[in-house]
Amino acid sequence: MATAVSTPSMDPAVSTFVARKQKALINGKWVEAATGKTFPTYNPATGEVLAHVAEGDREDIDRAVRAARAAFESGPWAKMSPAARARLIWKLGDLLEKHQEEFAQLESLDNGKPLAIARVADLPLSIEHFRYYAGWATKIEGNTIPLALAPPNKYHAYTVREPIGVAGQIIPWNFPLLMAAWKLGPALAAGCTVVLKPAEQTPLTALRLGELIQEAGFPDGVVNIVPGYGETAGAALAAHDGVDKVAFTGSTEVGKLILKAAAGNLKKVSLELGGKSPNVVYDDADLDRAIPGAASAIFFNHGQCCCAGSRLYVEKKSFDKVVDGVAQQAAKIRVRPGFDPESDMGPLVSEEQLNRVCGYLESGFRDGAKAVTGGKREGERGYFVKPTVLVNTNERMKIVQEEIFGPVVTAIPFSDPGEIVTRANETVYGLAAGIWTRDIKKAHATANQIKAGTVWINCYNVFDPTMPFGGYKQSGWGREMGHEVLEHYTEVKSVFSAL
Ligand code: ADP
Repeated sequence: MATAVSTPSMDPAVSTFVARKQKALINGKWVEAATGKTFPTYNPATGEVLAHVAEGDREDIDRAVRAARAAFESGPWAKMSPAARARLIWKLGDLLEKHQEEFAQLESLDNGKPLAIARVADLPLSIEHFRYYAGWATKIEGNTIPLALAPPNKYHAYTVREPIGVAGQIIPWNFPLLMAAWKLGPALAAGCTVVLKPAEQTPLTALRLGELIQEAGFPDGVVNIVPGYGETAGAALAAHDGVDKVAFTGSTEVGKLILKAAAGNLKKVSLELGGKSPNVVYDDADLDRAIPGAASAIFFNHGQCCCAGSRLYVEKKSFDKVVDGVAQQAAKIRVRPGFDPESDMGPLVSEEQLNRVCGYLESGFRDGAKAVTGGKREGERGYFVKPTVLVNTNERMKIVQEEIFGPVVTAIPFSDPGEIVTRANETVYGLAAGIWTRDIKKAHATANQIKAGTVWINCYNVFDPTMPFGGYKQSGWGREMGHEVLEHYTEVKSVFSAL
C-alpha cells in the first residue's frame, strides 16, 4: 500500500487516513472504482507515493450522477426546509473546525503548502465559507413584480428561485479543500445535489471532507465525491446528460474543453480560469507596504494562484528600489517541505508543474530575461523552485503573456501613467489586478479602467466569502462567492396568476 508517512508532529488520524486505500463516495457509501483501478497521489516534498485512491471513470460518474438525481428529486433532501439545510451546512463548518489540525496536515502533505499557511489560510477560509452559505440557505428569495402592461389587480406576478438540480463540480489542486468549500457551500445552500471531482494531484482533503459530510447527517446521494483523472472522470462529468450545471475551476485550456463537453445537453456552465494579473506600483505609493505586498502577491501559495500578481509594473523612478526590495523578500523565503516549521514556501504540486515552471524560466532566459534572484529549481529532491524575480522582460515574451503558475514574477518599468492601464489590460486574461498609490483619485480611476474581476488597492490576495470572485475575458464565466454565485445554482421561474 502507500508509503508509511509519519513524523513526531503528525496527527495520528492523518497517518491512519493516508495509509488506507481511499474510495469514492457514491450514494452515501464508500466504494471502489467500478474498474477496481486506483491511482497514486504523491507527496510533492519527496516525490514518494502518499496514498492510493480509487480511480473513478465514466461508470462511477454515471452512478454518482444517478444518486445525485435521485436525492434531488425525492427523498429527505428534496423535502427538507431551508432552515434544516442551513443547520447541516453550519454543522459541516463546525466539524471542519473540530478537525482543522488534521485537515491542515493532510492538505500540507498532499499539496505541499506549508502547514503554517494551511492552518491560518485554507482552514479558516473553508470553515467560514460553509458558515456564510449556511446563512444563505434561508435567504434565497424571488420578487413580487407589478406588471408594466397590465392594470392593477389584474394579475399577481412573482418570481421564484429554485435549485437548478444536479451540479457537477470539478476543482483544482492549488487550494484543494477551499475550492471544495467554494463549490459545495452555495450548491448546498441552494438545495442542489452534487457530484464533486477533486484534482487527481490532491484528492485527500475532499475525501476526508466526505466523511464529515456523512457525519454531519447530509442524506445519502446529496454529495457524491468521485476522485479520478481529468480526461476520464472529469470529462465524463462535464458531458453527462444527467447533470444540470457544471462548475469548474482550473486552467483556461481545460475550461474550453468543459464548455464543449457541456454543449450536449446545454447544461449551465460557470468557469473560474487562469490569470496573468498586473500589479501596478506608482511612484507615489507607500513603498514600505507596496514592496512586501508585491512579493506576497506573487509568492503566496508558491505562485500557484490563478490571481497571482505575476506581472509587476513599476513607475520608472521607483523601479530599482521596488525590484531590489521584492528580490530581497524573495531571497529571504525559506523553501522547505511544508511540514518543516521553518518553511515559508513548499514544493510545487507535481513533477509536471516543476517541469512546466522550469520550462518557462528557460524560455524567458532564451528571450533575454535576467533573474535578479532565483531562476532555477531548489535542490534535487521534491518539486521545489526558488522564488524568482525577472527583469529585462517585455510584453512580447511568452513569460509575460502566459500563466506560469509558479513563484515567478516579471518586473517591467513604465514611465507614462497614462499608458499603464492599456499595458496592464494587454492580456487575454482578466481575473485580478493590484494598484499601489497614495492618490485616492488615481487608485479608483485605475480600478475603473482595469478589465479584471477583482481589483486590490494597496493590498493583494484579500478574500472574503461576501465578495464575488471571477474573471473578465478568458479568465472565465460567472462569479464564485458572495450572493452572485447563488445565481449559478438556481433557476428563476416567473409565475403569472390572473386575479
Ligand atoms: P492544471 O492544468 O493546473 O492541473 P487543470 O485545469 O488541468 O489544471 O485541472 C483542474 C481540474 O480539471 C482537475 O480536477 C482536473 O482533473 C480536471 N480536468 C482536467 N482535464 C479535464 C477535462 N478534459 N475534462 C474535465 N475535467 C478536466
